[in-house]
Amino acid sequence: MGRIHKLPVSVVNRIAAGEVVERPASVVKELLENAIDAGPTRIDVAIEQGGIALVRVVDDGGGIDPEDLSLAVSQHATSKLRVAEDLERIDTLGFRGEALASVGEVARLVIRSRTRMADSGASIEVNGGRMGEVVPEGCSIGTTVEVHQLFGNVPARRAFLRAPSTEWSHASEAFVRTALAHPAVAMSLTHNGRRLHDLPAADRWATRIGGLFGMPLAERLLEIDATDGEIGLHGFVGRPEDDMASTRLQHLFVGGRPFRDRSILHAVQEAYRGVLLSGRQPIVFLRFEVPPDMVDVNVHPAKIEVRFREPSRLYRLVLSALRTKFLASDLGTRLAPPALQIAQTSLQSSQVMPLSEGDVAAWFGSSAASSGWQSTAAGNRSAGSADVPAWERVEQAASVGQEMAVQMHDRYIVVESALGIEVIDQHALHERVLYEGLKDSLARGSLEVQSLLIPETLDLTPAELEIITAHAETLAQAGMRVEPFGGATVIVTSKPVLVGNASAADIVREVIGRLTASVAGSGMLVDEVLHGLACRAAIKAGDPLSQAEVDTLVQDRRRVQDSHHCPHGRPTSLTLSRQDLDRQFLRT
Ligand code: ADP
Ligand code: MG
Repeated sequence: MGRIHKLPVSVVNRIAAGEVVERPASVVKELLENAIDAGPTRIDVAIEQGGIALVRVVDDGGGIDPEDLSLAVSQHATSKLRVAEDLERIDTLGFRGEALASVGEVARLVIRSRTRMADSGASIEVNGGRMGEVVPEGCSIGTTVEVHQLFGNVPARRAFLRAPSTEWSHASEAFVRTALAHPAVAMSLTHNGRRLHDLPAADRWATRIGGLFGMPLAERLLEIDATDGEIGLHGFVGRPEDDMASTRLQHLFVGGRPFRDRSILHAVQEAYRGVLLSGRQPIVFLRFEVPPDMVDVNVHPAKIEVRFREPSRLYRLVLSALRTKFLASDLGTRLAPPALQIAQTSLQSSQVMPLSEGDVAAWFGSSAASSGWQSTAAGNRSAGSADVPAWERVEQAASVGQEMAVQMHDRYIVVESALGIEVIDQHALHERVLYEGLKDSLARGSLEVQSLLIPETLDLTPAELEIITAHAETLAQAGMRVEPFGGATVIVTSKPVLVGNASAADIVREVIGRLTASVAGSGMLVDEVLHGLACRAAIKAGDPLSQAEVDTLVQDRRRVQDSHHCPHGRPTSLTLSRQDLDRQFLRT
């Protein structure tokens, strides 16, 4: 007897549900796509318990005819495609006709809908794959879809859901992506009865971006507008100094659809190379316009990836549009080659180029102002903040076995040591020193915490608020007390003494970014917080230091475990050995 048989419809649906519905965020995404496809002016989303208990999406779009209600919840039933050729010119977000059937298989699904023509509507309910009757109902124009108790009938899947706060942060991201893709539709988001977003219809993309992430951020973005033949690229990118710890503010869209694409994000990283600190992430909102036959959206069950016919053209367009913008926006001076190369070029050119006395004075004046080296160059002229002439300081240092250190360009500290010349990145080293100090005092139970006389307030997005709430205890352990202050606002009431004057609100922002990006286990979260503290509290490139501060920093270097790398693993210093120098000057 044969052993192969056709699977019952319910098993087929259950399998499909596994691909389409992974977690509450997938439900939010599918319901929002359906709502958008219905051509609404407004969509309201309500979520309970991270979406595990309820996801409700209400739109005022075209509605579903009562006759079609049972088809709408059946597998492979759609109003958006008829023949295979339609797949070549998809202009709707949905087309696979499987979302509602899949959701109905693994939850309790209720749909109420009324079309624009009808005086009244109808409803249908599907519970764990069992479809109920279509019941007449007097509802307003548009569609309400409710999904209750996701995976309530599939304990094995339910067990894989994370805490409501985690599910919520994914669900709210799905809302954010749709809201970004469709600025012309008014949208709101409510979680556990609290209204977190209320976005009016916007005719400018920047207005919608500002509505979601704050106008101050939106106003600082650089606008991108470029074309290559029939391909258009529009949107906004962040200034290098507005960098982020995570990729959370990187959004790509094509045809009203958010998508992920490693190649395009690689082009973005390339464009920012040299202007962004390594490990930091730029802000990117980019929208591609491509003819329908140049993009295939049917390559992923959840439609989060797309395939372009000429990916390399898009890559080049992104890279050149961003680079051109940076150069035109006066960020060009930061597009410099790596430090060591600069050092070598200037050494070489100074061998061949005769310098006037004015040049020399200007060079010393600009690069060594307020440092001990100035007096070396200018004979016995007194030197900025250092009272002792440099040559004396070198001698003194040598006699007590210390190193001579000066600050250059307000960002590097140059140390003369027995081995040669060491160039230290002041921010990277200070960050390492602070991090080790914090870690050490925490381990010894002696972390000093100062209460803020005037607590700092901080407005957060819903997702950020959930993260902070979920990790409030970890933050408190690290000396940062954060308390709710109504709505999505929190106040920071304490910080560790070690972080000095750094703004507590800035630190909390940094920490949120890190916790969002973090895949670390809970034991490592405190560490993640300490990194955030150290990063924000450390002196920055560009901060002038007094000679005393320079000396302290160089001395502190000896106390830390790994002074050669900052907590992100970037080098904190480069060494030019005496041998290297001798070789460069052809002395060997
Ligand atoms: P798809 O979106 O791929 O067509 P779905 O299972 O998501 O498949 O939806 C099935 C059908 O139900 C859609 O083709 C559409 O006709 C109808 N539908 C679903 N949601 C809505 C809505 N909010 N407004 C109007 N029609 C809807
Ligand atoms: Mg759909």
